[in-house]
Amino acid sequence: MRPLLITPARGVLVHGIGGARIPAVLVRDGRIRAHGSRASLAAQAPDAVVLAVDGVALPGFRDHHLHFLGLASRLVTIDCAPGHCASNDELVDLLRSAAPGIGTQWIRAGGYEHRAMRDRKPVDRWDLDRAVGPRPMILRHRSGHVAVLNSAALASLGLDDTAPVFDGYQHDERGRLTGIVHDGEADLRARGLPRLSPEELAVGAERASHALARAGITWFADLGANNDAMSFDTLTDLTSRGVVRQRWAMFEGLTSFESAGERRAFAGVKIMIDQSISSTEIADALYRAERAGLVTAIHAVDEAQLAVALDAHRKFAARAQGRGAHRVEHAFSCPPSMIDEIRDAGLTVVTQPGFLYEQGDRYLAEPDLNTDWLFPLAAFRSAGVRLLGSSDAPAGPLAPLLAIQAAMTRRTRAGRVVGEGAALRAGQAFGLYAALAPPPAGETATLAVGAVADLVVLDQSAEPGCEVRAVVMGGSLLVHGDSIVPALP
Ligand SMILES: [Zn+2]
Repeated sequence: MRPLLITPARGVLVHGIGGARIPAVLVRDGRIRAHGSRASLAAQAPDAVVLAVDGVALPGFRDHHLHFLGLASRLVTIDCAPGHCASNDELVDLLRSAAPGIGTQWIRAGGYEHRAMRDRKPVDRWDLDRAVGPRPMILRHRSGHVAVLNSAALASLGLDDTAPVFDGYQHDERGRLTGIVHDGEADLRARGLPRLSPEELAVGAERASHALARAGITWFADLGANNDAMSFDTLTDLTSRGVVRQRWAMFEGLTSFESAGERRAFAGVKIMIDQSISSTEIADALYRAERAGLVTAIHAVDEAQLAVALDAHRKFAARAQGRGAHRVEHAFSCPPSMIDEIRDAGLTVVTQPGFLYEQGDRYLAEPDLNTDWLFPLAAFRSAGVRLLGSSDAPAGPLAPLLAIQAAMTRRTRAGRVVGEGAALRAGQAFGLYAALAPPPAGETATLAVGAVADLVVLDQSAEPGCEVRAVVMGGSLLVHGDSIVPALP
């Protein structure tokens, strides 16, 4: 492959925002080989392809928590996100018109958010029956925790009203299954809910990788709570075929970790908090993961879940010595009293400021929510808590630039400001997406000589409102303007 001479009009920020600015870099064999002026680098490599774009280059964005395969399947799924439908009737119309274009037997729809609908009642199996009739259909909630099945889907999984089911399955007052299932993904799979076909998955994965590329993401961590050896092998295969272009790391679910099967190169273990697991059991999992050399990531959204996570870490600390860097995911609502405890436990908070923009107006409307506790990013910083940024896509908006802007402005979609005092400065907000991971995450991604040439070029200046102009991944151009550059065979 010919060398690449990258010379953006506003230079190259070697260590990201706030770092040294140089005119150009020379890339060969996937790595940064030299810094200098365009003329001096062109003299070193006369055969180089020159990428002279407007804007400024910096290390590619790293999304530390998303669900790649979930995003891929979302992209071969009918998109029912708020914005596409505002009422249950509109949702039914959308499903009815889109279903014929979904070519497989099962119809998948997702992105549904009942709280964004005008109706006071979530959709159920009978609404879906009206939309798609006899084809089996599953509609997933945006949170990833709720699904709705129509009558054909229930029947094909052997679920009638008298079937013994766990209490995630909702029944109406007449004892009939409503089709609404909470946290039932594993159970539905066990009953025969088909996975996407390999062809469907590859189409979705390519779309997902392109969406990441357009957002400037060159590395991601997949934090699926159901990740297992099969998920790892699927993503590995998609990457080796060039369908997925980013670098990545994967955390496995606790079930996979405990199955003690053949070990893949997992970066860590994802732990969900629910009624079925105590803080003592979580502490035990932390201990065993640590001994296996894995980072742990506990999903804790609010005060109650953070209390369980912190309790587990206290019990863990009593047993473990020289603990590694562990993570707590989300911490959307965190009381000030817990911030120092999170620091003392040595936990990295993996935050998703994009939710502040996208869901902020809903948070402000919730009477029980203390808005001073929402995403206290500046307080985490000043207490010395390590922060990493991420999207949680497909649950949250993918674009790092949108999240960076939200972290700096604290603005919601409707333009309201949530907790102005918690805003981060530009360098801090960009830094959320520049840290190298898996943790310890103390290191920052750089474009120093010898570094891997993963970089993003932003238009005009790296400030709120800027856009991705180009992306280079391992020394090859991946995004140029609005287009994706095909992988070389
Ligand atoms: Zn997640």
